Amino acid sequence: TDKSSRNFIEQIIDADLAAGKNGGQVHTRFPPEPNGYLHIGHAKSICLNFGIAKQYEGKFNLRFDDTNPAREEQEYVDAIIDDMRWLGCEWDDRLFYASDYFQQLHDWAVQLIEAGKAYVCDLDAEQMREYRGTLTEPGKPSPNRERTVAENLELFAKMKAGEFADGERTLRAKIDMASPNINLRDPVMYRIKKAHHQRTGDDWGIYPSYDFTHGQSDSLEGITHSICTLEFENHRPLYDWFCDSLGIHHPQQIEFARLNMTYLVMSKRKLLQLVTEKHVNGWDDPRMPTIRGLRRRGYTSHSIRSFCERVGVTKVNSTIDMVWLEDAIREDLNENAPRRMGVLRPLKVVLTNVPEGETAKVCELPNHPQNEEFGTRKIELGREIYIEQDDFQEDAPKKFFRLKPDGAVRLRGAGIAVLDEIVKNEAGEVVELHCAFNPDTTAKHNEKKVKGTIHWVNAEQAVEAEVRLYDHLFQTENPNKAPEGSTFLDNLNPSSLETVTAKLEPSLSHAEAGEKYQFERLGYFHVDPIDSNPGQPVFNRTATLRDSWAK
Ligand code: ATP
Ligand code: MG
Ligand code: MG
Repeated sequence: TDKSSRNFIEQIIDADLAAGKNGGQVHTRFPPEPNGYLHIGHAKSICLNFGIAKQYEGKFNLRFDDTNPAREEQEYVDAIIDDMRWLGCEWDDRLFYASDYFQQLHDWAVQLIEAGKAYVCDLDAEQMREYRGTLTEPGKPSPNRERTVAENLELFAKMKAGEFADGERTLRAKIDMASPNINLRDPVMYRIKKAHHQRTGDDWGIYPSYDFTHGQSDSLEGITHSICTLEFENHRPLYDWFCDSLGIHHPQQIEFARLNMTYLVMSKRKLLQLVTEKHVNGWDDPRMPTIRGLRRRGYTSHSIRSFCERVGVTKVNSTIDMVWLEDAIREDLNENAPRRMGVLRPLKVVLTNVPEGETAKVCELPNHPQNEEFGTRKIELGREIYIEQDDFQEDAPKKFFRLKPDGAVRLRGAGIAVLDEIVKNEAGEVVELHCAFNPDTTAKHNEKKVKGTIHWVNAEQAVEAEVRLYDHLFQTENPNKAPEGSTFLDNLNPSSLETVTAKLEPSLSHAEAGEKYQFERLGYFHVDPIDSNPGQPVFNRTATLRDSWAK
């Protein structure tokens, strides 16, 4: 294979395989902490780990990193499982849980105590911070650093037996208080926390730290390449130290740049805050960058996978433009969404030469302009129709090719409408247009070809439906950057959701939850799976068209 087209992770794995490492096996995993819903950043990690496993005909594990009972919930576990399946990234074998390793981790802690490599420390969190030192100052040893093995074993047993209060003791690795890498200055292995765990109940009153859990969990599962984000780069020496000190299978940790995107926040803490403070309507709000939100917005799993593919993997942090994600769903739906007509902001047009109650024309429209397999549908044009308010301008510039005084426009699939009269109310607002209709779609107006084509809906047969138009949830490109005295919440976009009552062509009354359509000239719309009722669909705008007014 061509080396230049391989990303840096593939190059590492290729070299490992060439050197006969890991018996020629590749085994990856995705290790979410069940303390929130998956977001588009997690999707990148999932696609990467799943993709590598498939590519090398290896294995892929899903492991819940559930060692912090205070913030974790079964609801999140279930949602993660469901979202992974929906993404099409199914794990091999069974599900794995770090909590299944609590006994083994405990026994390994005892092993390290016996080897003189771990000790029980009496410092509280604040003292420990003080003793740890800074980047420029070495740390000071804990007063308990030289406890005997016997003493440490006894104290650790007491920690486990619940004889101390939360935070009163910790178990620490005895590494190097002068290390330039602060993570190596005797990191905490165990904390006392008398919390009920969603899987192990009240069995444990002590819980292992991330650093003391992660590498060993990888090791137990036979993971070969433990791919994680860059912020764990300076935890790698610790990952290595625990595997080496315990003499167990030693997977290789590889770091890549996490996904950041414009107009989004991706931290679960911030997403949780948006939900609990009701800035959005739940984790699945279509404005959220969660997989749930994107699903409800109308994203397909294919579009998310192809987005992740395009973003690729690098070692350098960067911010991806939101447009990449939108382009991925546009591409998918452009190919796969049937076309319909709907009017978001209706303006009534009376075709005065069509007799009342009569059908002026039965129009047969293609359901997809580039794909005949989608078939056609019939729409009746009557005396009254709705068009988009924006498709009429009284003081129109010369290049405005839609309805304007003494102007004409083509009604998609029907014919030509020539504007005769603008009807206004007492306040001077336009309430209705009167036009003459000509069913000859090639007819000229004032001896010129009619340039503009607009969409329309038969007024008598129109279906009224709630349509939600979404904009960025935040109004600044980097919402995480908030000026002194403000927070990311101050960057929220006050008009990220607009709800309109649209007039839609009659066939859409049967639209079913989960279906996706292109409303011509307006964008892609998804039938909301939660708020829709039979015969009463609610639509979420997934994305606008690239340039909505080009035609
Ligand atoms: P957050 O910082 O949002 O709370 P996290 O990293 O704590 O996220 P985990 O559940 O621990 O969330 O993440 C599981 C895996 O997903 C980890 O391997 C993590 O590196 C990866 N991951 C999380 N966020 C991103 C991101 N934005 N881009 C790529 N990978 C990510
Ligand atoms: Mg984490
Ligand atoms: Mg986290």
